[in-house]
Amino acid sequence: MEKEKRKKKKLAPGICDFCGEESPLCYICTHCEFTICQRCFIEHQKLFTRTGVTWVCPNCLNWETL
Ligand SMILES: [Zn+2]
Ligand SMILES: [Zn+2]
Repeated sequence: MEKEKRKKKKLAPGICDFCGEESPLCYICTHCEFTICQRCFIEHQKLFTRTGVTWVCPNCLNWETL
């Protein structure tokens, strides 16, 4: 029986490294755990994403899928 499915979390609760505020919906880099809330993400979209499919972590330059 499988109780827990290992799903890749796209959005998880965390403390945003940008605004320092706690948010229930954050993008988290799987490499360095850089956290950005959805609000900052949308506000600074141009910094992170161009395609809307992937975003780049400004901390470690790792590409993450959205
Ligand atoms: Zn934020
Ligand atoms: Zn990172």
